[in-house]
Amino acid sequence: MFDNGSFVPSSNIGRWQEANACLAKTIGNHGPALTHCRRQARQTRRLLESLFPLMEDLCRRTCPDCTDICCRRAWVWADFRDLLFFHLAGISVPERQLVSRQGDHCRYAGPAGCRLDRLQRPFVCTWYICPAQTRLLDNRPGEKRHLVSALEQIKTLRKQMEESFIRVVV
Ligand code: SF4
Ligand code: SF4
Repeated sequence: MFDNGSFVPSSNIGRWQEANACLAKTIGNHGPALTHCRRQARQTRRLLESLFPLMEDLCRRTCPDCTDICCRRAWVWADFRDLLFFHLAGISVPERQLVSRQGDHCRYAGPAGCRLDRLQRPFVCTWYICPAQTRLLDNRPGEKRHLVSALEQIKTLRKQMEESFIRVVV
């Protein structure tokens, strides 16, 4: 269904839809057994949302003048943990995978920035703090500590959520 190998997983629209339908069905079939996973997904969502005001502020201060826009050169995609999170946390899944093949640029990178809601972006997009934003954060130590700690917690929760899910469905 979803391969985490060296090629882009579910890169064509048919595979993407198939992966999502299969995941939705599996989650539906295991209802109450996935309560713990849902809790982990909700906790992940709350942590992400706690970061968004800071990230919006950092973007407002840095992105408009940027001459090397990260989304136009990044080769990233949604992985299995991202999809699992979308489904368990009730987030609408993007219509397509971010890229189709090596060398592609993200299809959601628009002239005014990312066209996806922040919650719909793969975690790698939230996790990446560019050098200009890192410099700003160096002058805001309290917010930097919160950011670093929340990102670590999210990383751990995503891993635990996947492990719990696999224990239930396999
Ligand atoms: S996040 Fe950083 S690298 Fe990316 S567009 Fe904004 S300023 Fe540029
Ligand atoms: S999903 Fe959005 S933030 Fe992530 S690479 Fe694509 S345009 Fe950039």
